[in-house]
Amino acid sequence: MTVQAMLITPKEDPWAAALRQFDRAADCLPLKRGIREFLAYPKRELTVHFPVKMDDGSVRIFTGYRIHHSTVLGPTKGGIRYHQDVTLNEIRALAMLMSWKCAVVNLPYGGAKGGVVVNPKELSQDELEHLTRRYATEISIMMSPEGDIPAPDVGTNPQVMAWIMDTYSMHRGYSTPSVVTGKPVAIGGSLGRVEATGRGVAIVTREAARWLGMNLDGARVVIQGFGNVGSVAAVLLAKLGCKIIAVSDTQGGVVNTAGLDPDSLVEHKNRTGSVVGLPGPDVISNAELLELPCDVLVPSALEGQITEENAPRLRTRLIVEGANGPTTPGADDILNERKITVIPDILANAGGVIVSYFEWVQGLQQFFWTEEEVNENLERIIGRSWAQVVQAASERRIDLRTAALIRAIDRVATALFTRGIYP
Ligand code: NAD
Repeated sequence: MTVQAMLITPKEDPWAAALRQFDRAADCLPLKRGIREFLAYPKRELTVHFPVKMDDGSVRIFTGYRIHHSTVLGPTKGGIRYHQDVTLNEIRALAMLMSWKCAVVNLPYGGAKGGVVVNPKELSQDELEHLTRRYATEISIMMSPEGDIPAPDVGTNPQVMAWIMDTYSMHRGYSTPSVVTGKPVAIGGSLGRVEATGRGVAIVTREAARWLGMNLDGARVVIQGFGNVGSVAAVLLAKLGCKIIAVSDTQGGVVNTAGLDPDSLVEHKNRTGSVVGLPGPDVISNAELLELPCDVLVPSALEGQITEENAPRLRTRLIVEGANGPTTPGADDILNERKITVIPDILANAGGVIVSYFEWVQGLQQFFWTEEEVNENLERIIGRSWAQVVQAASERRIDLRTAALIRAIDRVATALFTRGIYP
């Protein structure tokens, strides 16, 4: 029986989707049932309900989570998400994905994820700081430089990481920069970290285009989500010669088949909070954006965007998953049938955790690298991982996602066998 079938999940939610992906890859490996279940289930889950004093003097209760999926390969690593739709199952799925992401690019980490159910845009800066410091205190029993190292995700940023680092350090009585990554450079962050995920997206797009025989010069690119990942990917893909024809955020999308200028989009988004309203391009919905004819589609917002419903209508050759879990397993089947290549999230957006690893290493050694060194090492690790996944896909005649997951799960399983089952 599959692990997914052993669990009660009312509908296809992110956790069910993550288990379906896991089962698909685990079916290709000689794993005994107990080992398979051990690899699938999260190791630890913490739910916290905590109070925050708001600017008007009232007190509001918030709910947060921190989940360690696997500690087999080393300390756990994974972002913290602030979003109003955060659920326990979403954080479970994202924690599991982090385990496979770290394993497929050969980092000495297991996966984790955290989140708070909050729309950060509705809080003042003071409220956001109070919420962050209280949440950091609540999850501090799960967090440490040797045990679990958070990083930014949707709705959080380097400033939030700085507050977490400071809060943790205040409790310890000494500065502990290596407890988080994605910190500002002023307090021990790494050069190149802010751009790292988008840079990784651009690198794998370049490699995939070469593999597919696609010319990136003038290639039409559509990007859903224009935050940390999507905006940097837009700027770097444009530098590779791509034509960014449409981008979007929660307010909607803008499209111009003649090409958009990524720098103007970044400037407009920073000034107004959205890409919508930029003078010139037409406005479209997020649903319409996904179905635009293009060469490369880069979902960089949230999970579950490409589904069985819209997959038959996508008109792209290549999908590069900047976001975590943007494609449902049902949609994967349709895209495979339609011969649309998907570069899976665990490879496509691994640039962020790779440079987070560099930041952690630099912090522990108190020896900091130049931006060139960071980018060169990122290129090397992503390039090697890409080649390994392509080779596994070719040998087994399977899609890139399943190939990447097989490599990742096999690596964790091998480490588990080597360590043995305690006691
Ligand atoms: P972010 O908060 O900086 O940006 C998210 C963007 O998506 C924003 O522009 C937001 O307006 C937009 N968005 C949200 N919901 C949307 C929707 N329904 N339709 C269209 N746009 C929507 O977050 P981020 O750090 O860029 O993360 C984006 C994705 O990339 C997430 O899936 C995250 O887990 C993944 N990711 C991030 C990192 C990282 O280093 N930040 C690393 C790996 C993966």
